[in-house]
Amino acid sequence: MTHDEPGATAWVWHGGTDFRPTEFPLPSPGPGETLVRITAATVCGSDRHTVSGRRSAACPSVLGHEGVGVVVSTRGGRTVDGMPLAPGARVVFGVTRACGECALCQRGLSAKCESVQKVGHEPFDGEWPLSGTYASHILLRPGQAVVTVPPEVTDGPAATAGCAVATVMAMLERAGDLSGRRVLVNGLGMLGLVAVAAARERGADHVLALDFNSERRALAHRLGAVAASPAEGATGTVDVALELSGAPSGVSTCLAALGIGGTAVLAGSVAPAGAVDVDPEWIVRGWRTITGVHNYEPRHLQQAVDFLTRDPHGLPWEEIIGGPVPVGQLAHEFSGHDPGRLRTMVVM
Ligand SMILES: [Zn+2]
Ligand SMILES: [Zn+2]
Repeated sequence: MTHDEPGATAWVWHGGTDFRPTEFPLPSPGPGETLVRITAATVCGSDRHTVSGRRSAACPSVLGHEGVGVVVSTRGGRTVDGMPLAPGARVVFGVTRACGECALCQRGLSAKCESVQKVGHEPFDGEWPLSGTYASHILLRPGQAVVTVPPEVTDGPAATAGCAVATVMAMLERAGDLSGRRVLVNGLGMLGLVAVAAARERGADHVLALDFNSERRALAHRLGAVAASPAEGATGTVDVALELSGAPSGVSTCLAALGIGGTAVLAGSVAPAGAVDVDPEWIVRGWRTITGVHNYEPRHLQQAVDFLTRDPHGLPWEEIIGGPVPVGQLAHEFSGHDPGRLRTMVVM
């Protein structure tokens, strides 16, 4: 590549905290593809698990699956609403790319498409090298949700739509009508705080938020929840329990809290963590439901952007998102120091 050709730079992850800037010519979009210039990414906890080795991932690869950017060029790319994309549009995008044709896609479970590919998870030497957000550009593919972002949603919050906020929207859909319901949120990371605010917006009568971390409890309290330590949990008193800690003890806390007709929606358990005891008679006699959500459908990304646009309870973004950190400092950001915030904004 010569210096007068426009190029892309990806901070390719080679294991550990080894991120190497790698330049190559800008790709031209194929049919249905859209090239986006990334303006900001946010560091999700699962990226930290990948770098620390708790979670297996393709390597080398371009990590980062939360991001926001501006369309550079497209060949027929469309938004979730079916609107044609055009250069200059500011967009967020789904974490999954689905085929649209397999049995799971046909059933409406595109997040679990039989040939699913995921942003920030694809091998750099494979068919989709520019698939992560720790790069100057990402190439969006057909079968990947794209939603335009209004200017009032700034880059940091917008970037969280594609993983954290959209996943919460899928959980709430699974939970059903929250109006007048008593809701428990266990685990007050990024998703838990969004869940508190979104449950209140949907008319939950009472939101109990549990976390061992008192600073996070304070944030949930500001969003209108009654915040407590998991040790103080609730027994048999909630209608909906949203589990985001991923700890077996957290799952047990959520189940124990369910009253008659209650529903537990689990989303935190994305790594092997051991089994949890469940008494089937307690499920049957109590008309209880236990369900799970992993990733989300395209409509949930639109709902996420709509939620961020309304931001009904004024999420305390300045305390949620740290940075901005230049992308060249990814190695330091992942070096194990306490980031101090639930997300770090990375700028290109
Ligand atoms: Zn994530
Ligand atoms: Zn499929």
